[in-house]
Amino acid sequence: MRITFLTGAGMSAESGIPTFRDALTGLWARYDAERLATPGAFRNDPALCWGWYRWRAAMVQRAHPNAGHLGIAELARRGHAVEVITQNVDDLHERAGSHEVVHLHGSLFASRCLDCGTAVVPDPILAGLDALDAGAREAPPACAACGGPFRPGVVWFGEALPEAAWQQAQASLEACDLLVVVGTSGLVQPAASLPALAQARGVRVIEINPVDSGVSALAQERLRMPAGAGVQVLLDRFG
Ligand SMILES: [Zn+2]
Repeated sequence: MRITFLTGAGMSAESGIPTFRDALTGLWARYDAERLATPGAFRNDPALCWGWYRWRAAMVQRAHPNAGHLGIAELARRGHAVEVITQNVDDLHERAGSHEVVHLHGSLFASRCLDCGTAVVPDPILAGLDALDAGAREAPPACAACGGPFRPGVVWFGEALPEAAWQQAQASLEACDLLVVVGTSGLVQPAASLPALAQARGVRVIEINPVDSGVSALAQERLRMPAGAGVQVLLDRFG
C-alpha cells in the first residue's frame, strides 16, 4: 500500500521539540515570530535570528525520534511504500530511518548564503552545537564566495514553499492509497490544500491528533491520541 504521511508539530511533540510559540522562553521570551522568522527580521538583526535558529538546532540535536517517527519507518520496512511530507524543520523522521521525506518548510540543517545560495559542508549551523546552552545572539558566518551572511534553511513567514518540495508533496498526494495526517493543528495554505487532493480522489484520510484540527472534518477516521499511539494503531492494522 502507498501510504503518505503529512506531519506537523504534534509529530515531534513527544520528542520534546516545542512548537515555535512554546520555544519562546528565557532569552527569547520577549520576541515573537515577526522578530525572528521573517526575511525582514533577518535583515534587521541577523545575529538575533541566527542565534535563535542555532538554539533550535541544538534542541533538535539533543532530541530523539519517538515511537511515532519509528513506527512510520517500520511501516516502510514491512513493505509499504511510505512517503513523509512534513511541516517540521527537524530531522527526526530521517533519524528514525525514513528515506522518503519532503520538508515543506525547509530544514534547520540546511543553511545557505542569503545572497548567492551557496551551502557548505559541514553546515555552519552545526558548529559547536553540543556546547550551546540557552542560546545567544551570534553573528552568522560569512559566505566565502560572496561575503553574504548565512541564513537558516527554514521557510520564513512570507516566503514561498520550496518548489521542488511542493511538487513532490502534490505528486505524493496524487498517488497514495491512504493519507495519514499527524499532529498538524491549523494547516496554513498552501499546505492546507494537500489533504483535499487525496480526498478528491476518494482516498481514505486518517487523522492522528489528540484534538480537533482544520483537517478533522475531511478525515474518515480520527484517532484522538498522540502520534506514537496513533502510528501503533496503524502498525497493528496494516503492519
Ligand atoms: Zn554567497
